[in-house]
Amino acid sequence: MDIALPSVSQVEAYLARYGHLSGKELLRPFVAGDYPGRTALVSSFGTDSSVLLHMLSELAPATPVVFVNTGRLFGETLRYRDQLVGMLGLTDVREVGPEPMRIDAEDPEGLLFAKDPDRCCHIRKTLPLNRAIQPFDAWITGRKRFQAATRANLQPLEMVEGKMKINPLYDWSQADVDGYMERHGLPHHPLREDGFLSIGCMPCTDRVAPGEDPRAGRWRGKDKTECGIHLPSNVPANAMDGI
Ligand code: SF4
Repeated sequence: MDIALPSVSQVEAYLARYGHLSGKELLRPFVAGDYPGRTALVSSFGTDSSVLLHMLSELAPATPVVFVNTGRLFGETLRYRDQLVGMLGLTDVREVGPEPMRIDAEDPEGLLFAKDPDRCCHIRKTLPLNRAIQPFDAWITGRKRFQAATRANLQPLEMVEGKMKINPLYDWSQADVDGYMERHGLPHHPLREDGFLSIGCMPCTDRVAPGEDPRAGRWRGKDKTECGIHLPSNVPANAMDGI
């Protein structure tokens, strides 16, 4: 098959060729195979993040890893990031965050998460991420179908906003994740044993009760299930112009 940079038809061709794969085998052609584009892994260094980071460390440890530090993360997440990066020998971790001028203008008291969480996610997550992935043709996400009803139809590969999204864990279960971490001796996020199954920013992350969706603790009590970085209406990076 001819390989070319992503377009809708190319992603369909990749799906025909690789869509039956998952996990490391789906990751391989895009980070250590014949894919000609530039690919980055976007990681939150959350509860399941070590799986993809470990796969990457085995296939291509110099692959860029993008980490969005919103400025509202748990200290445990930052320490877990440092632990995993050192342990796995990842050599290109790029931390990005919101523009200070924009925070000063729109969230000087740090309470925007309560007043307008969509706007808060937009300036603290979506815009920095869009800037960071600008140089890449494809990015890898850790999303899984089982995590929430909104992700039940997640595909292995997608074309969104001109870039290919690679979802190597799309069909994995929590047992698959836990089994992988155990087999490879990967440490758990320190908050997991305290009931946090999906971890984002401190003000918007709650513990999850038995039987709830793993993401039920995110923006609990608000009409919001995603931060916006995985929505098709994701605003392009040039929206950064002028605040
Ligand atoms: S998760 Fe909460 S604190 Fe973090 S960017 Fe979104 S609204 Fe703001």
